[in-house]
Amino acid sequence: MSDDWAIALHGGAGTILKETMTPEREAAYRQGLEAALAAGRAVLEAGGAAEDAVEASVIALEDDPLFNAGRGAVLTADGGFELDSAIMRGHDLAVGAVFSVCDVANPIRLARLVMDYSPHVAFCGEGASRFARAGGLPAVPPAYFETAHRRQQLEKARAANVISLDHNDNKFGTVGAVARDARGNLAAATSTGGMTNKAVGRIGDSPVIGAGTYASNASCAVSATGHGELFIRLTVARDIAAMMEYGGLSLIEASRRKVLVELATLEAESGGIIAVGRTGDPVLVFNSAGMYRAAQSAGGEPVIAIYRDGD
Ligand code: ASP
Repeated sequence: MSDDWAIALHGGAGTILKETMTPEREAAYRQGLEAALAAGRAVLEAGGAAEDAVEASVIALEDDPLFNAGRGAVLTADGGFELDSAIMRGHDLAVGAVFSVCDVANPIRLARLVMDYSPHVAFCGEGASRFARAGGLPAVPPAYFETAHRRQQLEKARAANVISLDHNDNKFGTVGAVARDARGNLAAATSTGGMTNKAVGRIGDSPVIGAGTYASNASCAVSATGHGELFIRLTVARDIAAMMEYGGLSLIEASRRKVLVELATLEAESGGIIAVGRTGDPVLVFNSAGMYRAAQSAGGEPVIAIYRDGD
């Protein structure tokens, strides 16, 4: 088992079936995951910090319109964009979270600014915008995030009167990354547009520390994707850490119990997590048909996979 650097990332979990995927789309998804993995890996290979690696990977995924974060995010019921993001560092439990951001190209950059420069840990709405401008992040118009495909998804969700996980339409979801750097420090980051046709002001698990994002050097770093309301109710990310800290479970035992037993009991196919501990390879656990995912440990090969069977 390695205790050198390791990184994992996800691009959403859900009903992702090989039968409904074209080779071109699959190739594009794999390329996006590979590029994001490479961005984080470059930081770790150069001896950089875990929080810089997860931020770099998430920025790459936010910039890729295929994913439901940054450009290409899903639309709210009113046809607008409200983006959520968080980052957490394991060695000092530093946190930055932003809720309902509508004018920052890379919400993870804003979360990072909050972590590094604010005495507070979370901002929303207008205050988040002001903090972004003060930190040098330019305002972008809603058109920056918009893609024709997301607009169609909203029309479909409105017609069916559903609030849908992005990937229930077999498309990419929320993005996230976890990393351990060569010094053994952990970090986690998550970014999302949320759920298609969500009510204005709805917050999911991604920016909620302990639900969709958590990192502590005492146990592990976790980033989640799936039906956010359930992840909040089950405090998924912190509970995995707590099972390790107080219960002595291994990372894989804790992750399986939370995702495959507790979450799946509340709702089948509700999502998954990626996590990394102080030693060993990352774990990637989901209860859905697929999860867009990638991982690599120092000295090992990159693993890119989409479906449940491991491809
Ligand atoms: N967890 C996200 C949310 O509920 C959705 C997703 O993972 O795609 O906002």
